[in-house]
Amino acid sequence: MKVQLDRDRCQGHGRCYVLASSVFESDDDGYGLVVSDDVPPDRHESARKGAGNCPEDAITIIED
Ligand code: SF4
Repeated sequence: MKVQLDRDRCQGHGRCYVLASSVFESDDDGYGLVVSDDVPPDRHESARKGAGNCPEDAITIIED
């Protein structure tokens, strides 16, 4: 699985990195970042949770 975060869409609500801190993190201004583009299997559920809770639809999951 790969995860992409569209920085142009992100409004810094922080839901992704609060709900799924193993996959997403905050930059210095509170906007989301992806910890690692390649998400290991034990973090897939967290990745989906973060993506599903982004109010801006800024996170794309690409299943292998
Ligand atoms: S939940 Fe969405 S809008 Fe909020 S920080 Fe994460 S990517 Fe950005």
